[in-house]
Amino acid sequence: MGLLDIVKPGIVIGDDVKKLFQYAHEHNFAIPAINCTSTSTINAALEAARDNKCPIIIQFSHGGSQFVAGKGLDNSNQQASVLGAIAGAQYVRAVAPAYGIPVVIHSDHCAKKILAWFDGMLEADEAYFKAHGEPLFSSHMLDLSIETKEENIDICVKYMKRMAAINCWLEMEIGITGGEEDGVNNEDVDNARLYTQPEDVYDVYTAFSEVGDLFSIAASFGNVHGSYAPGSVVLHPELLGKFQAYTKEKIGTDNDKPLFLVFHGGSGSTKEEINTAVGFGVCKMNVDTDTQWAYCVGLRDYFDAKADYLKTQVGNPEGPEKPNKKYYDPRVFIRAAEVTMAERVQQACKDLGMVNVL
Ligand SMILES: [Zn+2]
Repeated sequence: MGLLDIVKPGIVIGDDVKKLFQYAHEHNFAIPAINCTSTSTINAALEAARDNKCPIIIQFSHGGSQFVAGKGLDNSNQQASVLGAIAGAQYVRAVAPAYGIPVVIHSDHCAKKILAWFDGMLEADEAYFKAHGEPLFSSHMLDLSIETKEENIDICVKYMKRMAAINCWLEMEIGITGGEEDGVNNEDVDNARLYTQPEDVYDVYTAFSEVGDLFSIAASFGNVHGSYAPGSVVLHPELLGKFQAYTKEKIGTDNDKPLFLVFHGGSGSTKEEINTAVGFGVCKMNVDTDTQWAYCVGLRDYFDAKADYLKTQVGNPEGPEKPNKKYYDPRVFIRAAEVTMAERVQQACKDLGMVNVL
């Protein structure tokens, strides 16, 4: 049975998100969540998934959302990030059906100090639910991992109650992802907090299960955002197996993967580390740094190759009167970036064991 026998093409919501992740568990793959910042990067991600015949998760970070709406807008009360996230989600909703694949629309890390961003998106979800019977976004992430465990769980549960009422999925973080991303710097965090304990993951599972079943957990196992020279922090994906085994025993299930786990900070991970993580029930892996690089490489190589055609509007090595318009049209150089980004997204899908699953 293919994935399209279980969920429809277009935006995946509620129980269908769960079915999608269960399918990933059963078939031992994970779905990459691509951080997008524009219609260009969204299109590259969708195109890659269509060509790879698989689902995809389009996600917007806080800063990425602001970028969608425009860096020139005031964001002092998170209003540009709210607006950009909504605009991005509406754009994905508009074009996703044309690509013929299941698409999850998600928002990335939201810390306590920017909860106004989360509130704004959730209000948009509730309004969309009133009009269409489903939320605008498939899912959102709350990242209160730097708060105490108790406060982290309390705030998540409070939001999850609101989200459960509109069939919206919640991803949470327990333990801390190190490094620096999207303006959040955890480079100086104590290394012990980069490794979550099985008991902590189970505490999240029990508290959330009282509200509903539409949730996933980004439990840290030495993850670091960004790309660094190897050696500073060691990834221990086998910890994910301990989280699953502990929860399995506590709740007494036959299911070896009772937890839907999310892999953050995976850039630079080895194929083996990724395989181990997926084997232990990672169903979503975030991809940002590596696709940023791929997009940049496409642009860089284009400008390097066409340098002599981009010095003036008219005049190039073929003659002083030759026009350069077809070389400096943004559709040409932005497309070059999309092509290299799409190739990298397809690579991520393959690395996660997800090819031709529709
Ligand atoms: Zn992350």
